[in-house]
Amino acid sequence: MILVCGGAGYIGSHTVFELIDQGEKVVIVDNLQTGHKDAIHEKAKFYEGDIRNRDFLDKVFSENEIEVVVHFAANSIVGESMENPIKYYDNNVYGTQVLLETMKKHNVKKIVFSSTAATYGEPERIPILETDKTEPTNAYGETKLAMEKMFKWADFAYKIKYISLRYFNVAGAHKSGEIGENHSPETHLIPLVLQVPLGKRKYISIFGDDYDTHDGTCVRDYIHVTDVADAHILAVKKLRNGSDSSIYNLGNGEGFTVKEIIEAAKKVTGLDIKSSIEKRRKGDPAKLVASSQKAMTELGWNPKYTSIESIIDSAWKWHKNKPDGFEN
Ligand code: UDP
Repeated sequence: MILVCGGAGYIGSHTVFELIDQGEKVVIVDNLQTGHKDAIHEKAKFYEGDIRNRDFLDKVFSENEIEVVVHFAANSIVGESMENPIKYYDNNVYGTQVLLETMKKHNVKKIVFSSTAATYGEPERIPILETDKTEPTNAYGETKLAMEKMFKWADFAYKIKYISLRYFNVAGAHKSGEIGENHSPETHLIPLVLQVPLGKRKYISIFGDDYDTHDGTCVRDYIHVTDVADAHILAVKKLRNGSDSSIYNLGNGEGFTVKEIIEAAKKVTGLDIKSSIEKRRKGDPAKLVASSQKAMTELGWNPKYTSIESIIDSAWKWHKNKPDGFEN
């Protein structure tokens, strides 16, 4: 049985869909704070509850034969983490502490962890390698780095093996159009851009056009959520094969500016998308592009959605299917 903490969230739900497609048995824990009931796969066993609740988590581990944990349960909004860092330390760091304690108690020795490019902070070079310095510029990234460090020492002391996946900009939706990105409030570029052709917003704000990039807007490395989900499955398999702990970047290795994303979205939707230049958003590095060579070589990861149009197209399908997102 694979335990997916946060399996009702955006990336968690897509990972559950791929795991079940591959014949895995899945149990989900989610407090539904940001996850959605409607995103839960019907074949997964579901426990509604919080990973910080020791007794609750203990019951989940007692009632199920857990072999591996895939851990997504965390808060992930950069701006909010700067306003309320303690919330992030409590849910992300303390939550992971209780999870590790419970794993230790029940002798579960494998975990795949949802990490982030925000662990790097301002990059020293592009593309970013896993060995580059980690100096987060926001509290969210700092809590994810703290969680990675907790895994490192849990491995040292208790031999709990971890694979940490540092994602860059995850976007797109499941090919069925039945599940997709649904944050409230939404802060991510691609869903916000698509709100314009959906008639939900008049224009998209471009946060700064005076960066040191080829058109002045920020460059990001966009990666499809199903490709990210597949990397988790490869990580589970690698741990099953007795792999040591490791950290991998997940990106396409190609950067797109905000303006290029808007142009690609115009092409995909066939509709006009108005934009307005606004001031820079705090804490945004000019460029974030991953080297995912290590994941490709060691995990055998091979992203399928390599064009930005195919990523946006899958997001468009989802938003057209559910313009108001999940009901639950
Ligand atoms: N962005 C923007 N307008 C928006 C939302 C985001 O110009 O309404 C920019 C943001 O400044 C960043 C890029 O789009 O340069 C990607 O932002 P997002 O929040 O999607 O992801 P992040 O890179 O912060 O993880």
